[in-house]
Amino acid sequence: MPDWSPTPPPMRHWAGVSLKRVPPGTPITGIATSEQLLGCTTHWAHGRTLPCDPPDCAHCAERLPRRWHAYLSYVDLPTGKQHVLELTGLGADGMREAIARFGQLRGLRFKAQRSNKRPNAPVQIAARIDESGTAALPPPIDVREFMTDLWATGLAAHPLVPLSERIPETDVNK
Ligand SMILES: [Zn+2]
Repeated sequence: MPDWSPTPPPMRHWAGVSLKRVPPGTPITGIATSEQLLGCTTHWAHGRTLPCDPPDCAHCAERLPRRWHAYLSYVDLPTGKQHVLELTGLGADGMREAIARFGQLRGLRFKAQRSNKRPNAPVQIAARIDESGTAALPPPIDVREFMTDLWATGLAAHPLVPLSERIPETDVNK
């Protein structure tokens, strides 16, 4: 069904903001801008992460496994760009420990890295309070709104490609 609406697609609102997962072999270093971790139960469904939507979740009905993810916005170092980081339960535990220790998420300077070279290896978090304080940090990204738009538009699994590559080469007359 055509998606008619009086406003541009929601992702335009998020120009330059990406959802980041910790890659194997390369740590992510940043300063958290979110005030709190935001978590959501998700499914790995048809090649992408999508939220579980109870009580009538189509992916639960398909018996797809559920996995909880946590999200926070952060300023990436050294690019200075603000993004959203996705953590699994274990990674979120490390971030929660740091929050408990330092009393806040916003302003935590962290390094998130995988414990070995496998892409699904556990993410370990090292964190400390950034000495420059939180005054110079940009406002946090509304992570709930960002993820809702991302899940709705599918850009997480389908990065923008030229329009010509998105149209399947099919002949409707056959
Ligand atoms: Zn579900």
